[in-house]
Amino acid sequence: MNKPNIVVLGAGYGGLITTVNLQKSLGANQANITLVNKHDYHYQSTWLHESAAGTLHHDRVRIPIKDVINTSKVNLVIDTVVSIDPKEKKVVLENDELTYDILVVSLGFESATFGIPGLEENAYMIESLNSSRLIREHIEYNFAMYHNEKEKNQARLNIVVGGAGFTGMEFVGELANRIPELCKEYDIDKSLVKIITVEGAPTVMPGFDPQLVEYAMNSLEARGVEFITSAMLKECKPDGIVYEKDGEEHSISTLTTVWAAGVKANSIVEESGFETNRGKVEVRPDLRSPEYDDVFVVGDCALIMNEETGRPYPPTAQIASQAADVAAQNIKDLVEGNKTLTAFEPNILGTVASLGNNDAIGTIFGDKKIFGWNATVMKKIIDNKHLLKLGGIGLLLKKGKFNIFNS
Ligand SMILES: Cc1cc2nc3c(=O)[nH]c(=O)nc-3n(C[C@H](O)[C@H](O)[C@H](O)COP(=O)(O)OP(=O)(O)OC[C@H]3O[C@@H](n4cnc5c(N)ncnc54)[C@H](O)[C@@H]3O)c2cc1C
Repeated sequence: MNKPNIVVLGAGYGGLITTVNLQKSLGANQANITLVNKHDYHYQSTWLHESAAGTLHHDRVRIPIKDVINTSKVNLVIDTVVSIDPKEKKVVLENDELTYDILVVSLGFESATFGIPGLEENAYMIESLNSSRLIREHIEYNFAMYHNEKEKNQARLNIVVGGAGFTGMEFVGELANRIPELCKEYDIDKSLVKIITVEGAPTVMPGFDPQLVEYAMNSLEARGVEFITSAMLKECKPDGIVYEKDGEEHSISTLTTVWAAGVKANSIVEESGFETNRGKVEVRPDLRSPEYDDVFVVGDCALIMNEETGRPYPPTAQIASQAADVAAQNIKDLVEGNKTLTAFEPNILGTVASLGNNDAIGTIFGDKKIFGWNATVMKKIIDNKHLLKLGGIGLLLKKGKFNIFNS
């Protein structure tokens, strides 16, 4: 291939690691590398619940892309992708148009609202740095407003979280730690504040080990979180939600509904005409789209089947980051004329969910269960390992989580 144009869309876990690997492995005379991202920063999607709850400042969550990318080797384009035309090998941006020889689609996820009335309009989502920062501001605004109205409005202090899966539980864990601080700051009696989690399944964290689930529920209930399970959210209004449980409808008045019950791939993928399965591109083993030899898809836009279970792997940063390594290797091979590409096989090292800064649950090394301090430390090790991979020791020292002894 004659000095191809490699274009990477999205600087999240998948796109940024692909680009970092490419800038290391390809010489400037071998390829032109372009990275397109909406913002001039990468954000750690896995930390967004912390900035949403206000336990971690959003500046800790974001990393300037120029801190990890060498802009003399990579052309960094700050713009928004509007559509992809894989037949013409073109990407339409809000302010420009790019052509490519090799494309990496790594545009991440969006919240899935499953057509539930009012969710799009009235619920808050943990899906980007901006949307997370808004949740924090909104909660604080309502706490501040509480004593500024003649008639006290309980809806300002009721926080409803839709979904008690991984993200919902991680968020309420942070929130449970944040509320006492907020109550002190705004002179609010802590017993007035309600954090209510509404979950459709009979248990929280469906799919997790039952013993760990019980531990997580006890930890959160002790900090004031209420769980309503087997309850389907029916409607989200500006001032409350309606849910159905045991065939009966109930409502909760709230000005804050945070929807954390599902994600889907960035809709640009489907809208651009790629063949999709559940909105994602079901990639070949070498991570290319089934239809186009020059399009790689990594991260939450890709669907990778687990042959053992016959079900897709869940969308995780862990898989996005591992897939990025293989995609970068395969792109290098294509550029250098090697026809045999590497097949991607996820290596699941474990799953750890935080329940606030000082508690967590997880499984590691297959089925070893961990919880409490051990799990909290493990979670921080995982976070720090990613920073090290992304930007070396400098980035780790700047953004790493080292506060393990007061966990
Ligand atoms: C609160 C939360 C906690 C999580 N915790 C964990 C965890 O503990 N472990 C784990 O493994 N996974 C976790 N995940 C899942 C993980 O964050 C995702 O699977 C991972 O971020 C996917 O990586 P990605 O590269 O596909 O997308 P992302 O990391 O989301 O990156 C997408 C990038 O594309 C950019 N972008 C989007 N649209 C456009 C556009 N139109 N134009 C230009 N740029 C665009 C975005 O700005 C972003 O930079 C968590 C997710 C959330 C929300």
